[in-house]
Amino acid sequence: MLGRAGLAPEFIERTNGPRDVVCGGFLGWDALAVLDRLGVDPWGLGARPIERLRLVSAERTVEGRLPHCAAGLSRRTFDEALIEAAAGAGAVVRRGIAVRAAEGSRRVRLDSGEEVEADALFLATRKHELRGLARPREVIGADPVVGFRTALAPAPALREALDGVIELHLFDGGYAGLLLQDDGSANLCVSVARERLNGARGIEGLVTQLSDELPILARRLNDSARSGWEAIAGILYGWRARGTEPGLFRLGDQVAVIASLAGDGIAIALSSGVEAAAAFVRDGPEGAQAYQTSFFRRAARALAISSALRSGAENGKARRSMMRLLSLVPFLAPLAARVTRLGD
Ligand SMILES: Cc1cc2nc3c(=O)[nH]c(=O)nc-3n(C[C@H](O)[C@H](O)[C@H](O)COP(=O)(O)OP(=O)(O)OC[C@H]3O[C@@H](n4cnc5c(N)ncnc54)[C@H](O)[C@@H]3O)c2cc1C
Repeated sequence: MLGRAGLAPEFIERTNGPRDVVCGGFLGWDALAVLDRLGVDPWGLGARPIERLRLVSAERTVEGRLPHCAAGLSRRTFDEALIEAAAGAGAVVRRGIAVRAAEGSRRVRLDSGEEVEADALFLATRKHELRGLARPREVIGADPVVGFRTALAPAPALREALDGVIELHLFDGGYAGLLLQDDGSANLCVSVARERLNGARGIEGLVTQLSDELPILARRLNDSARSGWEAIAGILYGWRARGTEPGLFRLGDQVAVIASLAGDGIAIALSSGVEAAAAFVRDGPEGAQAYQTSFFRRAARALAISSALRSGAENGKARRSMMRLLSLVPFLAPLAARVTRLGD
């Protein structure tokens, strides 16, 4: 967006090539709408259409149509396409270099020691706190959740079970999400309270427990070989940035962290980037506060509802009531998917 406006943004990314990210890989229809605006075609990248939501608990399975078509795409493929699109629009892409620290919003220091000065800083480091611009200490570590992911190798049974579906397996302390992605494998992503993970003595212990509790998940895991795990800790579900300073635009998880079971974090990242860029093009560095305030307000409803649904889904008694209700009133699941979208 900045490049298209004739500016010369510098894009600094610490990884130097494609890599997997702890993420479910679900692109909601709001994310797809922003991608369309940006000229990035997920279907051309091999994204798999997702038309139904399947919720699975130990006792029952509830399935319903999503309000609109969504997509499953690996972050390995998706992130590279976004970086390529940024370069194509005029951004100077620098990879394999991390930003170490910031001095206000106009100057950052890279790990090479180089200092970069600019009119504004668009901060999109996800959970990583940048020295000088870290989020408040009392927020960091407030809700200890761990996320991890792996890929299940392509297999006929898996393809048949997951064709056109996002599957969420609900359990005490978290959920596991499964969908087919571009290379035919299934992305398995888990979000779990640290306490539960510690009690299970780590990821493999937790997977063994979950296989005992959730027979359908066990079947998916048995249908296919899986690769290694990537993990992420310190996810601050519910965080919303309220204040800022001229020239500092927080994007993605730095501006708002939605409970991941809503599958809307990518849409937040994309739309915050688009809105922040538009604010900068319109008002310059001074546009940061108005952008931040407007995003803070706009994110409130989706974050609050997602957080309530997450609490219900993770708690045994509430989950049983919720699943029973969803099975009796089938339109509630698609409605929940709709009201947890920031852009809907
Ligand atoms: C378990 C789990 C499942 C999820 N599933 C989904 C889902 O299915 N759908 C969905 O929409 N959302 C999902 N989310 C949320 C989503 O992944 C995030 O909200 C989204 O990736 C945030 O985007 P971002 O741009 O803030 O961060 P990222 O997409 O992580 O981008 C941050 C980038 O900054 C780079 N970086 C970090 N620090 C530095 C530095 N100091 N210098 C240079 N570069 C740096 C990183 O290498 C990275 O490339 C999930 C989250 C979790 C935890």
